[in-house]
Amino acid sequence: MIYLVEDFFSIQGEGPYMGTPSIFLRFGGCNLRCPGFGETWQKGKRILGCDTVRAVYTRLFKEDWQEVEDADRLIEIIQNYVVNLSYRPDIVLTGGEPMLYAENPIFYRAVEWMVENHYRVTVETNATLAPSFEAYPAYRSVTFAMAVKLSNSGEPKERRIVPEAIAHLAKEGKESFFKFTLNSELIERDAYEQISEICDGYENPIYCMPLGESIPQLHEHAKYVVPFCLKHGYHYSDRLHVRLWNREEKR
Ligand code: SF4
Repeated sequence: MIYLVEDFFSIQGEGPYMGTPSIFLRFGGCNLRCPGFGETWQKGKRILGCDTVRAVYTRLFKEDWQEVEDADRLIEIIQNYVVNLSYRPDIVLTGGEPMLYAENPIFYRAVEWMVENHYRVTVETNATLAPSFEAYPAYRSVTFAMAVKLSNSGEPKERRIVPEAIAHLAKEGKESFFKFTLNSELIERDAYEQISEICDGYENPIYCMPLGESIPQLHEHAKYVVPFCLKHGYHYSDRLHVRLWNREEKR
């Protein structure tokens, strides 16, 4: 059994494939909580955590999640999106933390099908969990967007940075890259030192994005992120879905 929170078809809003038509499958559950990312009120309860709390907090949201008992269900969702398209969109597996399901036979069979059918698959992950690439070789054809959490997540370092998992995803995935969301305070404090500690020794590209769920917030932090990227040779990534929909709609 795996849990699907939602699926939708839109453009990728971040990273190297920004603007690419993509089918998103968002899976439920995460091994972190990231209490440093602020608070929201959901279903009458105050929740500390990330901007996808509805894909993370099992107790509050599980009843809204779709139970998937067969890979064919995930394949059917994709086929329904592409039936009238003359091209193959990207597929983005996100969460929550989709790698919770990496070795689940339902999830893995669906990934195998995507790879066999020549879709470009990106897994958006916190990079604390990695599958066995020998036992699950389809992951060698998958791109991992490694959003390793920094100190502003509020997670203890030993939970948010798992060097062995990063090494596997960075070296064995296809064109995997690092992705960090930064605000002005973190940049002024020690973002560079933290990113260097995580990424030293890897050739994988590093993308830095401004924090913010609204255009004014994005604009404010982007003014710090762009010079930061110029100084250190990182790639700036905007967050197109925030600019286009400004928190009103999902991407
Ligand atoms: S790792 Fe990502 S999905 Fe999980 S709690 Fe942190 S921000 Fe949310």
